[in-house]
Amino acid sequence: KSTVAIVGRPNVGKSTLFNRLVGGRRAIVEGKPNVTRDRIYGETEWLGRKFNVIDTGGIVLHDNDKIKNQIKYQAEVAMEEADIILFVVDSRTGMTGVDEDIAQLLYRTNKEVILVVNKVEDFSNQEEIGWEFYSLGFGDPYLISAEHGKNTGELLDEVISKLPEADEDEVSEEKINIAVIGKPNVGKSSLINHLLGKERVIVSDMPGTTRDAVDTLIEWKDVQFNFIDTAGLRRKSKVKEDVEYYSNLRALRSVDRADAVLMMIDAQHGITDQDKKIAGYAHDEGKAMVIAINKWDLMEKDSKTMERYTDEVYYQLKFLNYVPVTYISALTGERIDELLSLLEFVVDQSNLRIKTGILNEVITEAVQLREPPSRKGKRLKIYYASQVGIKPPTFVFFVNDPNLMHFAYQRYLENILREAFGYVGNPLKFKLKQRN
Ligand code: GDP
Repeated sequence: KSTVAIVGRPNVGKSTLFNRLVGGRRAIVEGKPNVTRDRIYGETEWLGRKFNVIDTGGIVLHDNDKIKNQIKYQAEVAMEEADIILFVVDSRTGMTGVDEDIAQLLYRTNKEVILVVNKVEDFSNQEEIGWEFYSLGFGDPYLISAEHGKNTGELLDEVISKLPEADEDEVSEEKINIAVIGKPNVGKSSLINHLLGKERVIVSDMPGTTRDAVDTLIEWKDVQFNFIDTAGLRRKSKVKEDVEYYSNLRALRSVDRADAVLMMIDAQHGITDQDKKIAGYAHDEGKAMVIAINKWDLMEKDSKTMERYTDEVYYQLKFLNYVPVTYISALTGERIDELLSLLEFVVDQSNLRIKTGILNEVITEAVQLREPPSRKGKRLKIYYASQVGIKPPTFVFFVNDPNLMHFAYQRYLENILREAFGYVGNPLKFKLKQRN
């Protein structure tokens, strides 16, 4: 696995940066002869890439408290073990002689060195802060505040881009990316905050692929849910999402990254045109989806209210008749667990792959039950079908003439496949190929 080492003189903020990168995860402490305090390293993950981080500040030579030797040893460990070295300096103190000494040591390495200027408070004048460190000879410095997590995402983007090619096992699986979409005030922030409020939940902010998109990672029953671009929601950003253009672009972008889309509807307002548009986009993109009707606690209901509401949802969103609808309250937490189960389930279903043999048995039977359409005396013949893809489930039908397929008949086949295999919450893609 790739390793990133943090070096720098004492008090520049190495441990803070280390903790920032490794998060709440426990640092693994490994005993070594010659060192009293043990090497400190942790594992982290960024954009699906896993790597180790070493805090060389945790490495202290036995019975030798001379800073110079200490640092020399730390730098050597870094040069030996790391693929990438983060060389940290302090913007408050400016450059010091010790920084220059470390630079001298690091010149000898052929490893990637990224110069990091820490403790930056004011990012408005980056040139001014960074210029003196150029003389260290490691190119453009990265200005960050490890303490406040400012620009650490950009730094990690850079680290990732410089890591050697990943092995299979370094790419993490099992993380479910969820895009939460819905009009302002529908309760998106409340939902995220509710999830974060629970003790069962482990949280960290994960970077998105874009600078301003910061995700919220939540663990629930051994499943990691990554709520895309939601960190801002937790703290209700000052910039209200009242510019539709902007918020839509943003929503589309998070849909693109999602394994499943959670569409939230305000129970009292129902479905809007905007909801339809974004839902349509998610459908076209082949995303798994769950619809949550929020603020259900505010509704006056009887035993039929839910049923009627669901009918209305499917009436408004005809093309989404495969999407499960659930009724929640982000405020009281009602049915939030069910919602998470559903999200996990639809993602599971998006990976469903049916063997060709069984698929064709089901289709043969369906064709016997209902005759395919014909036009001008020519009837559609389905020779053979195969599921050729997942996410979304994609099928190829080999037929005598693709033009003979009728929308209603395709709908019928789709329903048959759903009855037989499920694919709950997922749009199905059909491709017709001519075979003579
Ligand atoms: P966002 O813009 O989608 O993030 O919406 P917010 O989470 O900020 O919610 C907008 C308002 O609706 C806030 O005043 C919330 O307290 C309220 N709210 C959110 N969810 C619920 C709910 O399930 N029930 C009730 N009664 N109020 C809710």
